[in-house]
Amino acid sequence: MLIQLTDITKIYRVGIETIHALRGVSLSIDRNEMVAIMGSSGSGKSTLMNMLGCLDRPTAGTYRLKGREVSRMGAAELAQVRNEDIGFVFQSFELLPRQTALQNVELPLVYARGSGWRWGARRKRALAALERVGLANRVTHRPNQLSGGQKQRVAIARAILNRPAILMADEPTGNLDSATTLDILTLFRQLHSEGQTIVIVTHEDEVAAHCQRVVRLRDGQIMSDLPIAQDQAGRFCAEVEARMSERALRTADSKAPSAEAKAC
Ligand code: ADP
Ligand code: MG
Repeated sequence: MLIQLTDITKIYRVGIETIHALRGVSLSIDRNEMVAIMGSSGSGKSTLMNMLGCLDRPTAGTYRLKGREVSRMGAAELAQVRNEDIGFVFQSFELLPRQTALQNVELPLVYARGSGWRWGARRKRALAALERVGLANRVTHRPNQLSGGQKQRVAIARAILNRPAILMADEPTGNLDSATTLDILTLFRQLHSEGQTIVIVTHEDEVAAHCQRVVRLRDGQIMSDLPIAQDQAGRFCAEVEARMSERALRTADSKAPSAEAKAC
C-alpha cells in the first residue's frame, strides 16, 4: 500500500477555540489510483491534503507512506519526503511571477537535498517536463504571459519533475473555464495512464467523474469511499466521456481515447 492513514485527528487551536478539522480519518491509497477527495467547504479536504502531502502533522494517528512512518519523522526528513515523493498542484498555480516557465519548473531540483544536479542536467529535465505537458513552445514565457490553463500546466510540470510517488492537486481547476478544465483533467488522466498516483481535491462532481474512486468528507470524517460508478459523481461519467471523445475527434489526437477508457 502506498498510503496508509490510520485514525488521523487534526485539532487546530485558535485563541480559546478548538477546531476538530479531522476526526479519526482512516484511508488507504494504492499505487496508480486516481482518487477524488470531496466535501463541502470546511469539511477538512485541505487539511487532509496537507497531511497526505506532509505539509502538516496530525495531532494523533499514524501515516505510513511507502511503508515509512511519516508521523515520527523530523523536520528535515519530512522536507525531503515532500520534495522527492510528493508533487503539489494548487488552485492558484503558485508560480513565481518573475521567473520563466522553465525556471519555475526547475525549482524542485534547485532545492533537492544533496543533489548533484548540475545546471545542464536540471535544464534538460525541466524541458522534458514542459514538453510532457505540451508547453515546449512556452519555456521562456513568464506567468503573466501565459493563460490560466498554461500556468496550471507549468505547475503540473513542476509537480512531476522529481517523478513523485503521489501527485496531489487541491482544486486544480477551480480558477479555470470548462474547456480548460477538460484540458487539465485530460493531462491528469494521461499521467495516470502512465502509472502516476493522483489525488485530486475538488467540490465538483464533473471533476470527480474523471477519477476512479471518490472519498467524501463531512465534518472531518469520511462519509463515503466508493468506486466512481457507485458514487453520485458517477452520473457525470457518460457526459465526461462524451465531451472527451468529441474533443479527441476534433483534435484528431490518437493517444487520448486509451487513456480515457480507464476511469469510468
Ligand atoms: P476544506 O478544504 O474542506 O474547505 P479545511 O481543511 O480548509 O476545509 O478546514 C477544515 C476546518 O479546519 C475548517 O473549520 C477550517 O476553518 C479549519 N482550519 C483549517 N486550517 C486551519 C488553520 N490553519 N488554523 C485554524 N483552523 C483551521
Ligand atoms: Mg480547501
